[in-house]
Amino acid sequence: MTHRIAIVGIGKIARDQHVPTLAASPDFELAATASRNGRVDGIDAYTSLNDLLEARPDIPCISLCTPPHVRYADARLALEAGRHLMLEKPPGATLSEVHDLIDLAAAKGLTLYATWHSRHAPAVAAAREWLADKDITRLHISWKEDVRHWHPGQDWIWQAGGLGVFDPGINALSVLTAIYPRALHLTRAELAFPENRDTPVAAELDFFDPGGAAITAEFDWLKQGRPEWDMHIETASGAARLSEGGARLTVDGAETQGPDAPELVGEYPALYARFAELLAEGTSETDLAPMRHVADAFILGRRRSAPRFDW
Ligand code: NAP
Repeated sequence: MTHRIAIVGIGKIARDQHVPTLAASPDFELAATASRNGRVDGIDAYTSLNDLLEARPDIPCISLCTPPHVRYADARLALEAGRHLMLEKPPGATLSEVHDLIDLAAAKGLTLYATWHSRHAPAVAAAREWLADKDITRLHISWKEDVRHWHPGQDWIWQAGGLGVFDPGINALSVLTAIYPRALHLTRAELAFPENRDTPVAAELDFFDPGGAAITAEFDWLKQGRPEWDMHIETASGAARLSEGGARLTVDGAETQGPDAPELVGEYPALYARFAELLAEGTSETDLAPMRHVADAFILGRRRSAPRFDW
């Protein structure tokens, strides 16, 4: 069965991933867009979600690709209008907002899917399997990229609610919470804020693991050149590296899972396939663990001042 779907917020991720994924999807048909400025050639376009919902009662599914701090109002509107909803990561600007959406979707009998695209990177499932029976002693996350290259001119990431370096960092935390065999919690955070910005440009995190491993993370948004999206894992029976944002798993120096395996599905095709499954089951998926760690980092984090940031 093919579901008609509309995308809200035609920007970078909608163009890079959602539109091409939907064009090839066996489960969905892109029927309309809602965006103040953006549009997709050949697709019915509205400048607000409200107009779209009024004009197109035949579209049962909405996918929100706007920045997180403006997403809640549209999410609520879509659910109130009886539409199933898929959310880009992070699912909102605050945990309370998302809990409200979870309750509303449940009350209305609608599917709500809070996506974490990095969990569908090629080697994440293999890393989870490998770790499941290991005596883990240490895990260090190094998530470093050049914000000017990956988010050119996106001022919302520097505004309160835009998460700063946690915008990519939450991808690392979504992978960590997917592969780690136990629940962890944050014990220390140090956040570096540029003197002219409201969100951090770098962060260091320590977590408590009831199993006794030392879990640490380092996020940096000013690394030029090749990005580092890596996890270094040490266990009593060998070491592993989950690298390239979850695309490669190397165990004791030998690659066990890489990004070129023929059976692999891309991150966004996997997200839409999962949304179709949830619709078929009539259920929701809203794991907030990655966002909870980010919220804890903002609550617990020691603030450090960093040089001003200009594009
Ligand atoms: P973006 O291009 O800056 O924004 C997406 C679109 O949302 C914009 O083109 C704009 O469309 C609309 N928008 C922007 N600011 C708005 C505002 N203040 N009020 C209302 N609408 C606004 O952002 P993006 O990079 O696509 O990211 C969107 C979401 O996807 C974020 O949560 C991000 O974390 C997530 N994501 C991004 C990437 C990536 O590589 N960029 C990867 C994975 C996930 P109109 O002007 O036409 O309304």
